[in-house]
Amino acid sequence: EVRVRFAPSPTGFLHLGGLRTALYNFLFAKQHQGSFILRLEDTDRKRMVPGAAEDIQESLKWAGLSPDEIYVQSERLHLYTEVADSLLSSGHAYHCFCSTERLEMLKKESQRTGQVPGYDNRCRHLLPEQVSRHLSEGLPSAIRFRLNPGRESFYDDVFGQMENTPSREGDPVLLKNDGFPTYTLASVVDDHQMRISHVLRGEEWLASTTKHLQLYHALDWVPPRYAHLPLLLGQGGRKLSKRDGDLNKRMGRRLEELISEFNVSRIVTHSALLELDKLNLYSRSRMVHLTQSIEDPKECMLLCEELMELLHQTLGSRMTEKDFVNREYLQRVLHMYKSRVYSVQQLLDDKHTYLLASTTSFVSHEDLNAKLSQLCSKSEDMKAYSRAMKALRLALSALKQGPSVAELLLVLGEQEACVRLQRALE
Ligand code: GLU
Repeated sequence: EVRVRFAPSPTGFLHLGGLRTALYNFLFAKQHQGSFILRLEDTDRKRMVPGAAEDIQESLKWAGLSPDEIYVQSERLHLYTEVADSLLSSGHAYHCFCSTERLEMLKKESQRTGQVPGYDNRCRHLLPEQVSRHLSEGLPSAIRFRLNPGRESFYDDVFGQMENTPSREGDPVLLKNDGFPTYTLASVVDDHQMRISHVLRGEEWLASTTKHLQLYHALDWVPPRYAHLPLLLGQGGRKLSKRDGDLNKRMGRRLEELISEFNVSRIVTHSALLELDKLNLYSRSRMVHLTQSIEDPKECMLLCEELMELLHQTLGSRMTEKDFVNREYLQRVLHMYKSRVYSVQQLLDDKHTYLLASTTSFVSHEDLNAKLSQLCSKSEDMKAYSRAMKALRLALSALKQGPSVAELLLVLGEQEACVRLQRALE
């Protein structure tokens, strides 16, 4: 039975690299009629970012990668403590009483001498009576794993035969003195508990795998298969950061097709470069496609709904009930700007674009309408008024019918409206 997991830490918003890992896991699971599990690895309390867990789930939902099961590590603390205890009693783990100051000092020392920063395994050698004394004194302690310093080899489904020495950083912490497990312990315990058959994760974890395998051996558990995915790099070859979440993962794709085509053996080991320009081109062609399909009422409704949601997220409380930004309005905006817009986000970001201009405008729709009607009020001639408005609308938008002139002015903003009126006069 194939069971795979996507195990993000909610320490930031989901970036494209993370989304790719999720996608590969999902495709692999579905291809084998297996389960795709979402596991939120929220045990590093200091690095948690509020809203990140929600963002991850939202992004997966948006991308159509719905998990079959969801787990949250902070709700499973007892499991990790139990395993840490059993490793203590079997002698594979030990209490470490070293203070933060001492560990800091070791770190500084290794920086000075240019060595890999790591623990010197001092507490490994404490005598049992010293340990019990410290414990009875209530000294805070972490639990560390007794790592075997020898070379280890394992087979990776992408990288092939690997060989590593895991010992350079010293014995890893399994349980911190705040009672929370480290990633090392929690991920191994959970992969076992959740009967994960294949671990597909980022290449940055390749070097830790021998450490994980030693834990499996110590616990007498059968490890899963591993496939590490090459890095996805940003422009100029830099690492993608959490900030790249705002690249906006919203692009269309045909999942069904991908499910049947996906093949781990076709994953190459070299890093992939993410070319933003290409992404923008792709996004643009999608936008053109989408905006063309707004003639199709169903497609249009979906697109506008997504836009509304994005607007709500972006503007939050700045968006009021009174705002006339509704689905119909968005439809008009899309009609007007289809050839120029290359991403949904652009509609929201660019201060010269139309959605923001409309909601932050200092004049209201009603104000503008009142001013426009004053234009013709002297003559009291409704026909003249409506002719004037038609001409204005045509000049502003090339539309014979459609949004009111007041709306158009708000949508376009002062600058763009002037440019267009000027052009019409030439
Ligand atoms: N929490 C880890 C991360 O965010 C998961 C690594 C793994 O998949 O084992 O990268």
